[in-house]
Amino acid sequence: MAKKLDKVDVVVVGMGWAGGIVAAEMAKAGKKTVGLEKGEHIKREDYIGVKDELRFDNQFQIMQELKKDTVTSRNELDETALPIRTRKKMQIGANLGGASVHWAGATYRYWPYEFEIRSKTIERYGEDKIPEDMNLQDWGITYEEMEPYYEKWEYTAGISGEQDPNAPKRNKPWPNPPLKESPSLKLFKDACKELGHKPFQVAAGNMSQNYENPDGEKLNACMYCSFCTRHGCDFSAKSDPLATVIPTALKHDNFELRTRANVRRVLYDKDTKKATGVLYVDENTGEEYEQPAEVVVLAAFAFTNNRLLMLSEIGEQYDPETRKGIIGRNFNGQYNNAFAGVKGFFDNKKFNLYAGAGAMGAAITDFAADNFDHTDLDFIGGGAIELRQYGFAAISSSNNIKEGTPSWGADYKKESLNYAYRALQIWYTNNTMSYWHNYTDLDPTYKDEYGDPLLRVTYKFGSGTKEIMEFGVEKCREIMEKMGADYIKEDSIPEEFDHEFSGGHYSGGVVMGDDPETSAVNNYLQMWDVDNLFVVGGSAFPQFGGHHPTPTIGALSYRASEGIEKYLKDKKQLVKAKTKTTNA
Ligand SMILES: Cc1cc2nc3c(=O)[nH]c(=O)nc-3n(C[C@H](O)[C@H](O)[C@H](O)COP(=O)(O)OP(=O)(O)OC[C@H]3O[C@@H](n4cnc5c(N)ncnc54)[C@H](O)[C@@H]3O)c2cc1C
Ligand code: SF4
Repeated sequence: MAKKLDKVDVVVVGMGWAGGIVAAEMAKAGKKTVGLEKGEHIKREDYIGVKDELRFDNQFQIMQELKKDTVTSRNELDETALPIRTRKKMQIGANLGGASVHWAGATYRYWPYEFEIRSKTIERYGEDKIPEDMNLQDWGITYEEMEPYYEKWEYTAGISGEQDPNAPKRNKPWPNPPLKESPSLKLFKDACKELGHKPFQVAAGNMSQNYENPDGEKLNACMYCSFCTRHGCDFSAKSDPLATVIPTALKHDNFELRTRANVRRVLYDKDTKKATGVLYVDENTGEEYEQPAEVVVLAAFAFTNNRLLMLSEIGEQYDPETRKGIIGRNFNGQYNNAFAGVKGFFDNKKFNLYAGAGAMGAAITDFAADNFDHTDLDFIGGGAIELRQYGFAAISSSNNIKEGTPSWGADYKKESLNYAYRALQIWYTNNTMSYWHNYTDLDPTYKDEYGDPLLRVTYKFGSGTKEIMEFGVEKCREIMEKMGADYIKEDSIPEEFDHEFSGGHYSGGVVMGDDPETSAVNNYLQMWDVDNLFVVGGSAFPQFGGHHPTPTIGALSYRASEGIEKYLKDKKQLVKAKTKTTNA
């Protein structure tokens, strides 16, 4: 029998960017708050001196072990889903700070078009532009409404950037100037300009200079050490929750952090339609606890947010055959359906690619969102074209070889040494749309260590998936040719989703909107049917934008925090629904 603890104002499940922001805002507002984190209590100091490519880039040791807890995956409804057990195939955060510690730092806001994608697509191209298999939804919030929350997150995180000439004018400049421009970035920018595009420096969560954020947290200037993506930063130069929002929350006595606290259920009273708290296991002792709370916040990454609602029997499960139900719909992400591009090999140019930072890069957004005419194209949306100098490491860069080179032996060694400094990659970070077919539910066969069903993902490509990638590869090739590469290798366009959830860009399943018939949460990420339950993170995205997701997760977390404070005052649903709620 679980031990019942004293009631608090707010319990937050998961302590990455999303949970860390909510915890910090609640702590600052004087609310009695508990943060429950499944992983270990990692601190920034734990990363000092750990520049180990084998452990972190090859064995993915910073990420969740998948032996005990993972997802299962299939393409078709009549297939048996199988569990994903190798960390290369699923990169989710394991400890305090979550995936937000090993992120690279690439920072983009989503576009006004993307928040109102259905309405704006119909307005410009007509309803026929939306394919029958695509479940295209507006977000229930506009870019103008999101702007102050983006700004708040960017200042907390201390983002280093410059204005993208295509993007809406910012109210305030980026908090820090952009990172350095290396010769490879300059070459990319010059080529883009010659082609008539508008290049700019990618905004980065890597600090271009020492910075103190509005909460008084200090970050140091980046050393361009290269061990950035998939690593924690030992210089305190990468903006992450361990350096910002978690210490801010911990400064307040009304906030308590409990690590190795694995939440298994949201406790839900069907009569009052209220969440009463959460049930968790203390993984140090194996004991179960019930943490009652006035407000429950799920911020445990898209997979766990989906699964905890299903295990707790909250909301109606989505059914792809009837297209009815809410929880699990619009499950999506950027997997092998995005980030295709080209690699250019330069015989007479050398670049020092072994210095770099996770988000050091140059980009264009001329082919993002609806910034270009889609009338004659068989897809909607777009993305950035990026060249990133995230920093090579010895083992991973040894595969810079042209097609036709043997994969071992003397010729392989000669070629891989030759191109170690002479190969550049550019890619297209395209939107991925949601399709009626794709969703999550509980797996009927596979279970975790506590006997609870794993989350099952059913996912396949839909109309436009391959076409947008082909378009991106063609545009990347044009730029690479202009850059003067002697040989260009195009990424091949995959036939189907290959069950590799790499890259950490997962979304949907608990989506936001203005209509409870088609969304689970309102634009404060408050559940339509359970007023005191807020589900925060990428799980709220109805579609995946054409850029990296974290700034939008950060902005929505600030928006949700504001909503939680309002709820604690008025104890009611914060948004008037467009239609009558039907999914109890
Ligand atoms: C290699 C890599 C590079 C990336 N680079 C970028 C980038 O450049 N730009 C960008 O925008 N995004 C990037 N991302 C994505 C980014 O990491 C995520 O968008 C971000 O971390 C999401 O934040 P979150 O708070 O929602 O989730 P997380 O940071 O993962 O936090 C969720 C937390 O919940 C905890 N948790 C899970 N289940 C439970 C449970 N049952 N009980 C208690 N706690 C639980 C987890 O342990 C974790 O700490 C990258 C991801 C990866 C993997
Ligand atoms: S590149 Fe910069 S931000 Fe990234 S880990 Fe190194 S010092 Fe930290």
